[in-house]
Amino acid sequence: MTFETLIKNACVAALALTCALSGSLPATAASGDSETIGIRAGILDFVDDPWSKGPGVVRGDEAARFIPDGLLVISDGKVKDRGSYADLSAKYPGLKVNSYTNRIVVPGFVDGHIHFPQTRVLGAYGEQLLPWLQEWIFPEEMKYRDAAYAKEGLTHFFDNLLANGTTTVQDYGTSSESAVDQYFQEASKRNMRVIVGIAGLDRNAPEGMITPPQSFYDASKRLIEKYHGKGRNLYAITPRFAYGDSDELLSMCGKLHKEYPDCWINTHVSENPTETRNAAEEHHCKDYLGCYEKYGLVGPKFTAGHGVWLSDNEFERLYKAGASVSFCPNSNTFLGSGLFRLGKATEPGQRVRLTFGSDMGGGNTFSMINVLNQAYKVGMCNNTMLDGSVDPKWHNEAEAERNKLNAMRAFYSITLGGARGLYLDDKIGNFNPGKEADFVVLDWNGGPMATKWHQSLICGDKAPQNIDQAAQLLFGVMAVGDDRAVDETWVAGKRLYKKGVETPTRDEAMYAEGSSKKHKEKKQK
Ligand SMILES: [Zn+2]
Repeated sequence: MTFETLIKNACVAALALTCALSGSLPATAASGDSETIGIRAGILDFVDDPWSKGPGVVRGDEAARFIPDGLLVISDGKVKDRGSYADLSAKYPGLKVNSYTNRIVVPGFVDGHIHFPQTRVLGAYGEQLLPWLQEWIFPEEMKYRDAAYAKEGLTHFFDNLLANGTTTVQDYGTSSESAVDQYFQEASKRNMRVIVGIAGLDRNAPEGMITPPQSFYDASKRLIEKYHGKGRNLYAITPRFAYGDSDELLSMCGKLHKEYPDCWINTHVSENPTETRNAAEEHHCKDYLGCYEKYGLVGPKFTAGHGVWLSDNEFERLYKAGASVSFCPNSNTFLGSGLFRLGKATEPGQRVRLTFGSDMGGGNTFSMINVLNQAYKVGMCNNTMLDGSVDPKWHNEAEAERNKLNAMRAFYSITLGGARGLYLDDKIGNFNPGKEADFVVLDWNGGPMATKWHQSLICGDKAPQNIDQAAQLLFGVMAVGDDRAVDETWVAGKRLYKKGVETPTRDEAMYAEGSSKKHKEKKQK
């Protein structure tokens, strides 16, 4: 199947999904084709970094914008306008509007670090990083050399992303070229903005995972030529991690980077203490980051996942290079890797670009809402270590405070902050006109039974009337709620997920014309 055919199929699929879902909405509602549509709800997004606005429980609101009764106007997959419903509705007479009550619309979530071929083993018991890789991860990833298995895995993977409100990922492929090729095809069907690449590994791994440096180079090059910059697809040159990569493989990454400076670079750094020591030793570098600097890889569009054991000096070098770190709190606690120093990374004057990542399957969730929950707890542990109460010599009041992840800092980090971390903020991250229309319709009462009564503390059964109430509800979502708070997920102006409706992208038949009928029949069974 050609790329063009896939894009065409994507349009058919989106149209089919539109039909399939329209029964659940009021007659005047639209769910996104090429027409201009409106989204009426509470609308919240960010224009700046909340850490730059100083401390406080819900402070940082100067970095955010909240419209209690807002209207987003979407056209051709992009944001055309945003404002209050009262002001904007007169400007667009006859506009088809989806109206939501008790919902906040936020930009689509950005997951800066995830591994699609680990979808099935998330939550596997495996203790620390290195034995966990050998016991669970490498055997599972090797299965993705089989096209049918890869297809099944990718279907589960994308369904899970959408059900969790994640619309953009930076992803690790396996060492299999065909699996990454299939990935781009599946992402294209859904028209999602993704960054992915073949994860190069040529030592400290089983034979079936090894990619010789020349083969890695050739396969990466073929995929870059075929997919990078086509539709919403982007390619990341991906040395998996320096401990698993020889000098020759890292040198091939440097060569690819010189030939394709427009591509992203995605890897791991300083995740686990043993791994950190081994990587630096084996590459004869003074520290882990040095392994990548040696080959000219560290600069803008470079992301290193984890960074738990980065030194102050490495943080400074990342800042100066314009490079990013992906904070993966679920993974770091699940595998016992350690506590990422959020307050250090956000230090004024050398604020490092950050994404937050699920690191699924090292992280035991797809949900960026759960990632915020865990990030908050990691931050609070760091806060205690630095507030002077443990040992006065560690006392650093300012850094302690920057570890506190209030709602504004949190939701910034998985929307505009994540987009900035990936150098994608010219395309996604907030609702400025011209941005790609990826967004999530959040139900702040969605989650465990306890959620709704807890949330009613903020504004009863009414919608938030100001940014302070919105921030408190969003904190409730991240602290008490879960993926059930995601009511709908929209990608490039099309709704691809609705809570409670069977996910149509699981079934190829849904892409065929007339699928709305099939879909309804299936639901009734
Ligand atoms: Zn990872």
